[in-house]
Amino acid sequence: MAGELVLGVDIGGTKVAAGIVTSAGEILHKIRVPMDSKHGSAEALGCVYQAIDLALESEDGPFISHIGVSSPGPLDPRTGMVLATPNIPCWVDFPLRESVERKYGLPTRLDNDANAAGLAEAIWGAGAPFGSVFYVTIGTGVGTAIIFDRQVYHGRSGLAAEGGHMTVDMHGKVDCACGKRGCLESLASGPALARRMMERLSDGTTIYAEEVVNKWKQGDPVASRCVAEEIDFLAVWLGNIVDLLEPEVIVIGGGLGTRLSDEFDALRVRLARWSINGRAADIPIKPASYGEFAGIAGSAALWCSHSAQLVQPSLGKR
Ligand SMILES: [Zn+2]
Repeated sequence: MAGELVLGVDIGGTKVAAGIVTSAGEILHKIRVPMDSKHGSAEALGCVYQAIDLALESEDGPFISHIGVSSPGPLDPRTGMVLATPNIPCWVDFPLRESVERKYGLPTRLDNDANAAGLAEAIWGAGAPFGSVFYVTIGTGVGTAIIFDRQVYHGRSGLAAEGGHMTVDMHGKVDCACGKRGCLESLASGPALARRMMERLSDGTTIYAEEVVNKWKQGDPVASRCVAEEIDFLAVWLGNIVDLLEPEVIVIGGGLGTRLSDEFDALRVRLARWSINGRAADIPIKPASYGEFAGIAGSAALWCSHSAQLVQPSLGKR
């Protein structure tokens, strides 16, 4: 892969972002088009093609040798099928990887957004100096990735590392979007933080997570209480993660996750109380390097890991 350019395509429920990524993880061009996920599978795929076409038309477009795609899961990275994702309801058992590969004649890989972003951090970003990385993205949801030696751990059928849906409160009041109860995501995502603030204020105002963080940074006592709870939920959960994996580093990204970085030292100390590992507090917790472009870099990173055996042979149409 040295010296070759990979097109990274980051598909979300409302947008498709794409960029051309060097073998050093640098993003050369960034493109963003709206995603139409409400009408039909062909319309949604058309948005993906539109982003890829724009990238191919750029000055570095002719040098693209591979395509990496990330999409909300659940999906099967081995077959390249999107199974059924609430963010893009028109794709059910949809052959996304094969569709892209056939249209462009370039070898294509697919993984879910959190796995891809975590891989970019493990190869080029905050996790690069470490052999094992636990990656967390905290925003609208909570996504996770487990990366050992620059390889995503996929589990038996590609559905592993859904750490955001680990139950941390079986008596939790809130049902998670996944259908379970008391998942970390339902307690510590951006909307969950905002909901706790609104419950405390109970004056009917709508508040978003970003405003809670802003108020916390300004010293607002209610917001500070809500953020302290957020850190508590993360500490309990990460204590379990450390007992299970003992990663060399924990990398936290996502819109809310990176904004909590002032609390990472406190989180590191607090999680040790929820772990039997006497060295838990030694594990560094680092903010992600890529920010909003994690998906683009991560999709390209799918071609820079050692997990080639997971992917079907390319169709070879060039
Ligand atoms: Zn859940």
